[in-house]
Amino acid sequence: MDYFDEMGWSPIDSEEVVNHQMLLLARFLAQNGFVNENFDQDRLAPPASKEFVKNLEERSFTKNDEKCTICLKPNTDDEEIFKILPCKHAFHSTCILPWLERTNSCPLCRQEMPTDDEDYEERKKHRARAQQREEELETLHNSMFG
Ligand SMILES: [Zn+2]
Ligand SMILES: [Zn+2]
Repeated sequence: MDYFDEMGWSPIDSEEVVNHQMLLLARFLAQNGFVNENFDQDRLAPPASKEFVKNLEERSFTKNDEKCTICLKPNTDDEEIFKILPCKHAFHSTCILPWLERTNSCPLCRQEMPTDDEDYEERKKHRARAQQREEELETLHNSMFG
């Protein structure tokens, strides 16, 4: 019986440690501004919120409607169920649902949707605040010098 057994502890498996270290490193880099915005958006964007996806507006489309830009299949006479994103872009539910399980932005215009990822939402708020400050500064600057 070794020390860990005696204490009732089980050693953490090494893969878990590596993953944890990667996460810490990624967080450190992000906090210190080493990771640029694009990296943040392209690689780390989490899936759309499940609740949000469940409540997406739905409607059936016919031949005359715009076609789904994910699969580009022509619409048929059979009415098909489309999901409407907040940006008003519409896609087959069978095309957009797998997409939103991977990332939270519209495939066409990249407008972001809510996620279930608290860290990500926090970073998004930071970005929005930073952007707002910049705009305020610009407005102030323009009102003084414009
Ligand atoms: Zn489609
Ligand atoms: Zn869109």
